[in-house]
Amino acid sequence: MSVKDVVVIGAGAAGMMCAIEAGKRGRSVLLLDHASKLAEKIRVSGGGRCNFTNRYTRPENFISHNPHFCRSALARFTPQDFISLVEKHGIRYHEKKLGQLFCDGSSQQIIDLLRHECDAAGVEWQMPCRVSNVERISASDARFMLETGRGLVSTRALVIATGGLSIPQIGATSFGYRVAEQFDINVTRLRPALVPLIFAPEQLTSFSQLPGIAMEATVSCDGAKFRENLLITHRGLSGPAILQISSYWKPGFPIYIDLLPDIDAAGWLLDHRNSPALLPNLLTQYLPKRFAQAWTEAISGGQPAKPVNQYDEKSLRNIAAQLHGWQITPCGTAGYRKAEVTLGGIDTRELSSKTMEAKKVPGLYFIGEVLDVTGHLGGFNFQWAWASGHAAGRAA
Ligand code: FAD
Repeated sequence: MSVKDVVVIGAGAAGMMCAIEAGKRGRSVLLLDHASKLAEKIRVSGGGRCNFTNRYTRPENFISHNPHFCRSALARFTPQDFISLVEKHGIRYHEKKLGQLFCDGSSQQIIDLLRHECDAAGVEWQMPCRVSNVERISASDARFMLETGRGLVSTRALVIATGGLSIPQIGATSFGYRVAEQFDINVTRLRPALVPLIFAPEQLTSFSQLPGIAMEATVSCDGAKFRENLLITHRGLSGPAILQISSYWKPGFPIYIDLLPDIDAAGWLLDHRNSPALLPNLLTQYLPKRFAQAWTEAISGGQPAKPVNQYDEKSLRNIAAQLHGWQITPCGTAGYRKAEVTLGGIDTRELSSKTMEAKKVPGLYFIGEVLDVTGHLGGFNFQWAWASGHAAGRAA
């Protein structure tokens, strides 16, 4: 049986960061993961270039039942702290937009950075390694006993960094939530987030032939609003604006799409009230042509489009209102297989915001995406993984 100061289960973004910090403090650290390939989620992130942080990270970029929880950890490990690490390893990066930082090369550079820092901090690895049982014990040097595929391990501090449920095909499991249940720690409702939205076939007849068409729009739902690109897919809508709003969408809720966020649509349409052009042809001034045709058909219940001069003022105002607030109700999401993250998780009211330690189970820590702290799209989820991992690594 091996005896450790700290065992971290899950060698992803948060787990590696935690192991590095604990190792640097001289703790004996074992990092184990059931996967055979290291940090697959980092590898696939940011289209293979890893959007590793966001310069403008603020607590407002995170969704949680306990919105202030993330403040302390984010303040103690900032985007600049991670950027310094990236620069120390000579990794070249660029800002794509809105403070989002990506590697110039590939995500593998971030994995190599973390692996290298773990090795420098003396972290011991076990991969692939399954944990079949976790038990609380009370020994002078240990509080937990783990049964693993490679034997028994006892430890004073146990850190759960097994992430969320998204992309089960690359190793996501519900392990972290099950450990929480075992120790009577509440888990908030889980849902796929940062995920494409799906529409019923009858809503889609006009649009399903247009996959790949993209446009900038403002999308809102349940008080949240994002202006980004929107993308038509075979089954519904995707693109950054939709991924962002999906984190706020709940079954049955409509979403509202402002297709012309920069112009006064009513004023513009009324200026053209004498135009003989067909309505969709006029709309192509601002919208992609095939989308304009499908959209006009959709809002007129399948009626053929008319020349603009055949609409009365009330109809033109009504069309303008729909251009600014096209209301559609998704019938679902594309699910965990396509979601970037899991919304909800370990109830943070059960944890210390300074250390991530469970209040009622001394020595048990939860970090990263397994917590009920979900970032917006744009590098915030990794920043949370680094910051929460750092906080636990300094304490465990
Ligand atoms: P993970 O990185 O998921 O790590 C969890 C680890 O635990 C994994 O290695 C897994 O194998 C292991 N594990 C799971 N179950 C067990 C078990 N039972 N036993 C042992 N080990 C286990 N966020 C950004 O900020 N920027 C991006 O560019 C970005 N792009 C993304 C692209 C995609 C396609 C996806 C799916 C997500 C993306 N994210 C991005 C989100 C980000 O990847 C996650 O929020 C982040 O990886 C969470 O870190 P974590 O350490 O908590 O979990």
